[in-house]
This record gives sequence, C-alpha cells and structure tokens, in this order.
Amino acid sequence: MSDLDAFSNQAGAPAQLGEVPPDAVIAIDGPAGSGKSSTARALAKQFGLLYVDTGAMYRALTWAALGAGLEPGEEARIASLLAGARLELRPGEDEARVFWDGRDVSAAIRTPAVEAAVSHVSAHAEVRREMVERQRALARRAGVVMEGRDIGSAVFPLATAKLYLDATVEARVERRVRQHRLRGHAVDPAAVAADLAERDRLDSARRQSPLTISPDAAVLETSAWQLPEQIERAAAAVAAIVAQQTPPPALPDQPRLCARRRVVYAVFGVLARFYGLREQDRRQLDLPGGVIVAPMHLSYWDAPLVGATLRRPALHTLAKAELFRLPPMRAVLRTLDAVPIRRSGFDAGAFHVACEHLAAGRDILIFPEGTRRPPGRPGPVRSGLGLLMQRSLAPAVPVFVRGTRGLQPGGSSDSPLEVRFAPAVRLRALPALRARHDERQISARIGALFEAIYGELQARSFAQNPQTAWEIADRERAAVSCARREARVFGSRAPA
Ligand code: C5P
Repeated sequence: MSDLDAFSNQAGAPAQLGEVPPDAVIAIDGPAGSGKSSTARALAKQFGLLYVDTGAMYRALTWAALGAGLEPGEEARIASLLAGARLELRPGEDEARVFWDGRDVSAAIRTPAVEAAVSHVSAHAEVRREMVERQRALARRAGVVMEGRDIGSAVFPLATAKLYLDATVEARVERRVRQHRLRGHAVDPAAVAADLAERDRLDSARRQSPLTISPDAAVLETSAWQLPEQIERAAAAVAAIVAQQTPPPALPDQPRLCARRRVVYAVFGVLARFYGLREQDRRQLDLPGGVIVAPMHLSYWDAPLVGATLRRPALHTLAKAELFRLPPMRAVLRTLDAVPIRRSGFDAGAFHVACEHLAAGRDILIFPEGTRRPPGRPGPVRSGLGLLMQRSLAPAVPVFVRGTRGLQPGGSSDSPLEVRFAPAVRLRALPALRARHDERQISARIGALFEAIYGELQARSFAQNPQTAWEIADRERAAVSCARREARVFGSRAPA
C-alpha cells in the first residue's frame, strides 16, 4: 500500500497505529457542514486532548460586532473590539461553550444572522492575526484537536496530524438543516444551501489564509458515513499519520557509507565542529532512502554545513549548471554525485534523473528557493520542489538554516549557526488536490506549505536563541544583494 492509499477513503484501517502524544496538535479543516465539529470533539475525548472550535471564536467576534452596531466590513473597529475582549472556550455537554467577556454566548453565535456575517468578519487580516495568536497560545498550554479552515495550512503548519473533511453540498446542507432544527431555529433548506455556498465562496477566495487543503492532510470524504464510522475513520487516519511521522529509535539495516562519502562527511564534520554548528531534530531524517532533503538557502556555506548533518549513504544534490563550468568545482561536484540543473525554465532532464534516483532509494538534496535568499524571511519556494514531489511521490524533509552568512567575508562569529529539521512532508492529499487543481497550482500550494514550515522552524529557533544585532542588520543588507541577483538569474519572472 502506498503512502497515498493509506490515507484515502477506500483503504481499510491502516495496519500499524501510533500512540497520540499528550502534546499533539491535531488540525481538522474543511467547509461548513463537513462534520468537523462532531469529529473533532470525539477525537479530543478519545485522545485526551483539548477541543478547540476556532469557528466559534470567529462567530463570537461577529456576534459582538453586530451587537455593537458595527458593519462586518469595519476592520479596524472589529479588530480593536477583539483586542480588548476576553474570549474563552470551555468544554460543554455537547458543543464547546463560548464566553465573551464572561458572558455565555454559545447559543447566540449559532443564529442565522451571525452565520450570514461571519465570513466577512473572518476575512480581515488584523482579525486573523489576533485569532491565530490566541489559537497558538491555547496549544502552548495543552495538546489540542483544533478545527477550522486554516489550522493545518496557516495556524499549525507543523501539526502532528492534519485531516481535511469534505462532503457533497447536499450532505452538508442536510446536516446543517438538522442542526438548526435541533436548536429550535426555523430554517428554509434553500436558504441554508445559499448560505453555505456563499460562505464556501468567501472562505475559499479570501486573501488571508483561505480555506485550502494542506497538501499533507489526510482527506476524508464523509458524505456517505454515519457519525460513528466517520469518527472511527478519522481516529484511524490520525493514528496512522502519527505512526508514520514518528522516527524509529534507530534505522535497521542502514547501508554503510562508502569510503568516498566517509571522507566527504568527515571533512564537512570537521568544519561543522570548528564553527560550532548546532543540529536540531536530525532524527527526522532517519528514514529509508529515497527522501528529498529541502534546506533553505542563505549562503555558499549551506551545502557543506547542511551536508555535515546529513550522513546519508546515497545523496545527490541538484546544483546549478553554472557551477559545473569551472573545472575544479566540477571535480568536487562530481565527487559529491551532484546533478546539474538549469534554473531558467523547467529542466526536464534534471527532473527525470532526480526522479530515477528517488525511485531507486537514493536521496535528492534540492534548495527549493532556487537561489540564496535573505535570512529571516524564508521563501518564496519555487515550483521545482512541488513538481518533484508530485512526480516522485517521495517524502520531503524541510530544513531550516541559520547563521551561514556569518561565515562569509564581513560576517560575524556571534550569529548562531544552526540546522533544524522538520518531520517529512508527505503528499497525502494529492488525489484530492489533483481532482481540483493542475500540477502548477498544486506546486504553488506545496511551496506555500514549505514557506509556512520554514517560518515556524525559524520562530522556534528565534524563541530559543534571540536574533543578534548583527543578524538583524545583515538581513537588510542581504535583501538588497538578493534582489539584484534574482533579477539577474530569473529575469523579471515572478518567483513561481
Ligand atoms: O466552523 P464554522 O462554520 O463555525 O465557522 C464559521 C466561520 O468562521 C467560517 O465560515 C469562516 O468564515 C470562519 N472561520 C475561519 N477560520 C477558521 C474557522 C472559522 O475563517 N479557522
């Protein structure tokens, strides 16, 4: 069974299930009426995690804004209303209970009036910034099952497990009508259908973190399922992801490094020790061969220093073709089994070679930003990584890099030197994405996910080791030189 089959509706329960850790973050996204709330609540109970309904947070703000006589479009006033408010979620009998400045608004936020305005209120950038901050703060206190629209894509790009629930419009309307009637609201099914369609449109089209399927989410089509089956399938999908994402204590049967690689890694290792490189979470790379290693790119020092941490038996770096023109460099790159790649346009030959290596269980190292970028602002990730992942179906490990510019002439030895690994990204949602988008659009979504992951790794690094004054000043210097270089390499084409 392939990675993709393991998470589709058709597959039976995965064979090997993992324990969900107490600090897990389970992200559940999907459109209105897809069954997120009942599933999220049940999973939270089953796994002993806190249940957080982020839709209820946006609804409570909408209720307060309407009550204060504000129009849904008044961004600044709505944002300041939120900034001054105490918003609490407490577990309830059935749904979570929501309190606005101590007042129980759980029933008031479910009315058709709030429903009609909430997608306008939630589209404001200021509002989302504050809500996301509050949602992240909740997960710092306890493990959570959090449901919403952007949880896997924006709030927690490194969630332990991500699910995307979907259902046909008919099934979603039927569920919503039933919920409204249970609450004693008289509703017209045609009006509910129109409201759902409008909210889907607004939630998916907005600029700020729209409703989207995170490429690494397990997608569950719930239309045909009764609630117990839906919960069982969702729990099985979460447990399977946890099992897949947990690196084994040690990789069995790791092939030995050949003599040439031992020498190369020893040289890189000496450099890394000399400069005091710190490795974080390197065990994320303890995977069977055939992995894409995807580090950020800041300086020419990235290759040897990231290289020092890899210690993989078969690894091929996609290196820009220009480097192979210089004879001494060509000799070094050949020793490292590098593959030349043209950066202008799509290099089909290089991609073919890379896919063959991955299929044969050899790793590929690619710098997804395509060129050296200023530190502190990861991305943009270009389309090559997404295309390679879609064509090879190989898992890709994002690698955050910090401090390598400090080793350049004019650098500073007090900037922390760090390489930080994230769990491998696997394209669990690929069949669902292919049904909705073309290859380029899917690559853009994969790129956006990697940018969010680098951003999250960077936030963790800065939280442990605050940025130095030199790093902050260097970021501005680098931005200028990077802009010049990008114009030269990629012309006026926008990064894709
Ligand atoms: O999930 P629920 O239907 O209660 O969400 C209400 C609305 O809140 C959504 O239609 C959407 O506009 C907004 N929302 C959001 N981001 C989230 C959760 C909800 O924009 N994470």
